[in-house]
Amino acid sequence: MHTLEGKQLEGDVINLLSRYTPAELLCNEAFVQLGGCGEFVKNRLHCMLTLRQDSCFDPVQKRQILCTQFSVEDPAVLGLSEDGQDCACACGLFDYIADTQKSLVGRFTDIRIQGQNAAMGLDLTARRNLELTETLRSGERRGSLLWVLDRTGTSMGKRLLKGWLEQPLISPARIMERLDAVEQLCKKSAVQMELSEILRQVYDLERLMTRVMYKTATPRDLKSLSVTALQLPALKAQLELVSDSKLLARLNNHISTLEAVSDLVEKAIVEEPPITVKDGGVIKDGFHPDLDQLRSLMGGGSDLIAQIEQRERESTGIKGLKIGFNRVFGYYLEVTKSYYDLVPAHYIRKQTLANCERFITEELKNAENTILGAKEKALRMEAELFAQVRDFLAGQLAQVQETAVSVAAVDVLCSFAKVAQENNYTKPEIAIDGVIDIKDGRHPVVEQVLQEEVFVPNDVYLDQKGSRMAIITGPNMSGKSTYMRQVALITLMAQIGSFVPARYAKISVVDQIFTRVGASDDLAAGQSTFMVEMSEVSAILKYATKHSLVILDEVGRGTSTFDGVSIARAVAEYIANSRLIGCKTLFATHYHELIALEHSVEGVRNLSIAVKKHGDSIRFLRKIVPGGVDDSYGIDVAKLAGLPPRVVTRAKELLKELESQAPVRQEQLPQDGQISFAVVSRDQIADRLRKTHLDELSDRECRELLEDLVQLAQA
Ligand code: ATP
Repeated sequence: MHTLEGKQLEGDVINLLSRYTPAELLCNEAFVQLGGCGEFVKNRLHCMLTLRQDSCFDPVQKRQILCTQFSVEDPAVLGLSEDGQDCACACGLFDYIADTQKSLVGRFTDIRIQGQNAAMGLDLTARRNLELTETLRSGERRGSLLWVLDRTGTSMGKRLLKGWLEQPLISPARIMERLDAVEQLCKKSAVQMELSEILRQVYDLERLMTRVMYKTATPRDLKSLSVTALQLPALKAQLELVSDSKLLARLNNHISTLEAVSDLVEKAIVEEPPITVKDGGVIKDGFHPDLDQLRSLMGGGSDLIAQIEQRERESTGIKGLKIGFNRVFGYYLEVTKSYYDLVPAHYIRKQTLANCERFITEELKNAENTILGAKEKALRMEAELFAQVRDFLAGQLAQVQETAVSVAAVDVLCSFAKVAQENNYTKPEIAIDGVIDIKDGRHPVVEQVLQEEVFVPNDVYLDQKGSRMAIITGPNMSGKSTYMRQVALITLMAQIGSFVPARYAKISVVDQIFTRVGASDDLAAGQSTFMVEMSEVSAILKYATKHSLVILDEVGRGTSTFDGVSIARAVAEYIANSRLIGCKTLFATHYHELIALEHSVEGVRNLSIAVKKHGDSIRFLRKIVPGGVDDSYGIDVAKLAGLPPRVVTRAKELLKELESQAPVRQEQLPQDGQISFAVVSRDQIADRLRKTHLDELSDRECRELLEDLVQLAQA
């Protein structure tokens, strides 16, 4: 499918998929036809792709599966359209589950449709570049945002936090609810500490219930469920104390004390149960009279054996006669060599050893049958009772799940509060006027890992009008990337409901964050650095909206200077143009020619990172200041990095030569900074016109072309 429509669809599907990290995807033939999608799933998502026939997704044929699953008459009750694509997806999913995971079916109690707009758009590239859950270079958790924010006490909390990080909210009301909850927990530290203490004793209810549903839960799993349930009343009591927060009050309402679970398990299962049911010892005495009776028979069994032993010893006169037991013969009478002549005739010889012989008797065999029979019966009965308890718990699934989700959310909110207090974060103000205003913002991760230097805080102000785009110049290593990521991370932290590392922050919700930062590891997938860079940039141009936040780090670097500078400028102009995108953008560049945009494009402001030069060396001040700089100090930074003095001296000579020869650089007068573009623009205008076929353009495209040319001419 190589039509334009197919390509568009392919792009949209990839864009949507890249928001998730699925383990497995179900698809139909049409998906496979979109070649790029299959490749994306294989090379980027690294997940399993299972092809299912179209009929599996057919609501007409399969709707009954859904209706039975959720005990409804009509899929519409579940919020699905009668025959729409959402219904087709749900049918396909449950048809697959019914085919492959029969025992798991009961685990699903609700369908939630992830609307395209429910969460902030954060594609795979942005998630990786911002190092949300692992670092870019080594894939480690240490050094990621998750590493800083995760002070959760439960595995459920850990999982939920990761989910929140990857799907930040876009509804200001929901964000504010979370922030208010964190504020309450910060204010009432004692409650927060008490909650953390309780949460430490909470097991993974979700995993435990999965095992209950799979019928693989062990006796210890059931005990863990009960231990957790027993914590819930205390948890609820603490939550009462912070019910000024609407969200915490609501979560409390959704947490059940699960008495049915703890009552039954405490009655049925022993205090310290074994790992498996196989060897018994799981069910408590007193839980079932029949089991008690069998057990007393088993206990009485040893008395029976002792009686026989005593009696045989007396009747035969064999003093050392003993009754033993092994798996092969069961119970036996053992007589040592010196007493062989006293062995009665009715003893049946079973085994001869070096110093003794082993016998059985009719009476001993009968006693054995009674004892072993009781043991076997008791084991069987324990297994049955255990299964009954487990199945009863399976019936509590919906309630346990609801509780689990709410407990996990409480855990994450407590974690946010703890991190906020320890790291001196502030509650951000959530706004709707399109302004992002951060005072003394810090990078949440870099500030933690800096060892000798102190982190230098910086401000940012971005809006949808005069300060949409910041062009950031400054030497390598001065802190451009850190600054841009810090803005993106603070925005994202606010949108997941966390306090932020800043003295003050006003954040207007952004719908998507895009990043084009440094090299990507797609090189392994066979694309050149430049191709990767350009395809990432084109995705941004295609999907960014006025409400997005875009981070661009040195666009155009992978090609020749003229090409690079032209691309960088064209991209900046396109994004800054409020009729095309006009979103908040941070654009770091070494192309000092871009400084000129401040004068020619509305909404563009220059920022630079202050550097102090002492004779031959430079010192990074890490402070963002207004205005652009036209010296990249590249050679000075290279010297700092340990380039041999001979190479540094030679590079300086060459730079001088180049500066005296290059017409473009000569023409680049910092006062208006625009003349350097005259040569480039002239060539570009001629080139665009040469390649244009007027009869292939629509009226709108003609107008856009004309606008572009006028802009180039005016640059
Ligand atoms: P390049 O252009 O080479 O990519 P850069 O300008 O993007 O460099 P960064 O990678 O952001 O520079 O920063 C380099 C190092 O400087 C960081 O690893 C960090 O240790 C330190 N740094 C950055 N910003 C600050 C700051 N505000 N306060 C203290 N140290 C900082």
